[in-house]
Amino acid sequence: MNYSISRRAASLSPSLTLAIDAKAKQMKADGLDVVGFGAGEPDFDTPQHIKDAAAKALADGFTKYTPSSGIPELRSAIAQKLKRDNHLDYKPSQVIVSSGGKHSCFNVIIATCQEGDEVIIPAPYWLSYPEMVKLASATPVILETSDKTEFKVTPDQLRAAITPRTRLFILNSPSNPTGSLYTPEEARALGDICVEKGVLIMSDEIYEKLVYDGARHTSVGSFSQAHLDHTILVHGFAKAYSMTGWRLGFLAAPEPIAKAIDAVQSHSTSNPTSFAQKGAVAALNGPQDHLEIWLAEYSKRRSYAHQRLNSMPGISCVNAKGAFYLFPNISKLGLKSTDFCARLLEQEKVAAVPGIAFGADDYMRLSYATSMANIEKGLDRIETFAKSLAS
Ligand SMILES: *Cc1c(COP(=O)(O)O)cnc(C)c1O
Repeated sequence: MNYSISRRAASLSPSLTLAIDAKAKQMKADGLDVVGFGAGEPDFDTPQHIKDAAAKALADGFTKYTPSSGIPELRSAIAQKLKRDNHLDYKPSQVIVSSGGKHSCFNVIIATCQEGDEVIIPAPYWLSYPEMVKLASATPVILETSDKTEFKVTPDQLRAAITPRTRLFILNSPSNPTGSLYTPEEARALGDICVEKGVLIMSDEIYEKLVYDGARHTSVGSFSQAHLDHTILVHGFAKAYSMTGWRLGFLAAPEPIAKAIDAVQSHSTSNPTSFAQKGAVAALNGPQDHLEIWLAEYSKRRSYAHQRLNSMPGISCVNAKGAFYLFPNISKLGLKSTDFCARLLEQEKVAAVPGIAFGADDYMRLSYATSMANIEKGLDRIETFAKSLAS
């Protein structure tokens, strides 16, 4: 039997983050004391009232198919949230609830891009974007950035990358993996160019609520009706409510795009889990005070780790404005990111994700969604490793 794989599937790169994670888990299982900085999810529990709402829905027998794009109650709650928090005018019919923010991104790309289309993706990027673009038979166009610009693309860079084939520009602010955040002025300048050139923006705002030092996230669609007409907003419950395993995300789009995505979803996954959606309603409409506690904790860890990293030989790190990652530059230590992280894991039992996974080989990604005790221990070990390489 010839198990030939489709060109589409064969074009994908396997996830380096998952490979590192598997290796670290195996080492832990073997009894080794591994410190993990690989986590892409909050270390806090889902708030109790959200769990209660889902448990009640389950107990009440809310266990059947729902409308493919989500229950009306949740789509309304999302439209209200987008108005309340982001000053965006969406009708519930423009909102599609999907099985995770990742699924929402996939839906957007598959419903808007095809062979011959180009999708502009700033690097460092969330590692799934280019692979999703390839799955849609479109072409990722990577815009390199560095720590010198806090990993942000400039308007000139974006303008120069746009061609008649450009279909989509992917904006992720606050960013995974760098934690960088575009100011309102910066976001507006990029949005203006997309409006002028007729390019759609996929704005992944999943880290919206995780911002520090009094910074604020601004939705690129909020600047004018024209900006909104050119924007597809992607969001979800994973990061702000620690609901990663629930698999619930959403998008909001101009009506024709929402309709197309509804069709795609109705023939692929259909509705996201019924009782999980009831939990999501409680998340949006219930108290938000957990966030203040989480943010204070993240902020403390971020400041500590940022300061420690910058005191190590050969390592420099711009401070993150959002999300829960730091993205230190390790290029002065003379190893490519894959070797660096492999040896760090082998020698010091610290798991970090090599920057190459995000299209930036001079860096590594450290998640501070782990306890302060772990962070202290892990940074001690990174310091030992950096000193060994620098000497
Ligand atoms: C976590 C994340 C998502 C969505 O995750 P889900 O678990 O699928 O909801 C989307 N974009 C980025 C950049 C993320 O880090």
